Amino acid sequence: MSDKKPFEIARETLKQLTLRKLAPTPINYQLIYNEIAGIPLMPPFPADALRDIAQALPAKTPGQQKQRGLLEYAIDRLNWDGVKAALVAYGGFVPALGNESSPPVLAPAVAAAPAAPLTAPALTAEFFGQIGRLIEYAQPALGDDDPRFAEQTQTLLSAMREPGADVVAIKAALVHYSHRLSFAAEDQAEIKKTLLKLLHLVFENIAELSQDELWLKGQMEALMAAASPPLTLRRLDDVEQLLKDVIAKQKDAKERSLQAQDDMRRMLATFIDRLSEMARSTGYFHEKLEENARQIEQAKSLAEIAPVLQEVVGATREMARESKTASDQLQEMRERANHTDAELAKLHQELDRVSAQARHDSLTGALNRKGLDEAIDREISSVRRKDTPLCMALLDIDNFKKLNDALGHATGDLALAHLATVARECMRPQDSLARYGGEEFVILLPDTPLDKGVEAMTRLQRELTKRFFLAGTEKILITFSAGVAQLAANETGVAAIKRADQAMYLAKRAGKNRVIGA
Ligand code: GH3
Ligand code: MG
Ligand code: MG
Repeated sequence: MSDKKPFEIARETLKQLTLRKLAPTPINYQLIYNEIAGIPLMPPFPADALRDIAQALPAKTPGQQKQRGLLEYAIDRLNWDGVKAALVAYGGFVPALGNESSPPVLAPAVAAAPAAPLTAPALTAEFFGQIGRLIEYAQPALGDDDPRFAEQTQTLLSAMREPGADVVAIKAALVHYSHRLSFAAEDQAEIKKTLLKLLHLVFENIAELSQDELWLKGQMEALMAAASPPLTLRRLDDVEQLLKDVIAKQKDAKERSLQAQDDMRRMLATFIDRLSEMARSTGYFHEKLEENARQIEQAKSLAEIAPVLQEVVGATREMARESKTASDQLQEMRERANHTDAELAKLHQELDRVSAQARHDSLTGALNRKGLDEAIDREISSVRRKDTPLCMALLDIDNFKKLNDALGHATGDLALAHLATVARECMRPQDSLARYGGEEFVILLPDTPLDKGVEAMTRLQRELTKRFFLAGTEKILITFSAGVAQLAANETGVAAIKRADQAMYLAKRAGKNRVIGA
């Protein structure tokens, strides 16, 4: 390397270009500069030429396809080592000469040299250890329904962990195992799909059976939406919460209507009792009055009539009193029946209200305010426990009123649903999306510091520029302005959203279609 300063080398380079009568092209400049500076000549990475070569390579066998893919990957990264490794490995998958369609065979260079890299003990043990861990980590996803597969896994794991394991035998076992594993993975995917279908069927049936129960129907629709792929733990958690809600409300409704029935039954029994009592006492008074009438008929003097009249007056009074009591009791029973009726009506109203407050917004499928409140509580207590950052982003669609005015409210609705879909696909499974108001959304980003939160929102903006909203055949670009706040120590969720809202407002003031951190 030359010890000249860069500006001296540059000056000398220009001088040499003139002296040697060379055209002042960038390549000539670079050549002379490197020569004077003593920098070894490195031609630029011939990505295009290499890509041509990669394209020309046959990819008939899976091995060739894989290595060609690796070669292209290395070219994209301008990585000479990767290019070399991929080409060498590609050589190992060249089919036998004269038979293009025969199955792949290992080229002699690799097949005949098992002793070279494969027996490097440290590397092999570490490599097998890594594969073993990979298999173990993948176990929960593959389920434990097939005991033979579980046994095969254990056998392979112990063989790989044995000191001085037989590399060739383990390679053969791995090939066999990956074959089984692909079946197990397919099985699990199929099981998941079928279970989901079953779940939907159950929800549909419940909704069908309860046509009259509006509140239940609403909740069932929310459940079906929540149990549609792509599933995430968060959405499953929402399904669980929703189901718990439905079950609790149903139990409550059943208990209260049973109680109301019981009240009615008791009232009816009392009513019948009262009626027969009235019939009995009326009969008694009737007999008494007849007797009094006979006595009056047979009386020979006024003195004889006077006590009888006294009795008649007493009996009549008693009759009036008894009939008043009976009428009062009946009146009270009627009031109680009305009250029970009103209570039942209130219960139904309450159920309708709860249904309207289900956690999801039916237009966008995002959480609604109630769902958001619960998600915030859950996330805040989780980040406080784990001592990790939580970001809250508030986004507001730009010029949405114009879109509504130009294309109609119904198209505006579809645009909102489009934004929610793109947002959900762009978010991580642990993030939550909520509709905060008309065209405003809140996104909760757990384990995310402020700069990453701003990045996530910017990514969503970019995604929206790639995925236009289609109004019929017209492509509409939806943009939004967003504010992002990271929850501070001891700050409430409401306060953090307020800060995000203020930042969003600044983003609007600064010209819209931008993200600002609070
Ligand atoms: P800015 O860029 O300043 O946010 O302007 P903007 O037009 O988006 O904001 P503004 O608050 O003036 O208007 C919001 C509009 O969103 C008005 C309202 O009609 C519309 N909107 C609110 N909820 C819904 C909805 O559910 N569906 C549809 N289609 N439009 C809605
Ligand atoms: Mg708004
Ligand atoms: Mg707006």
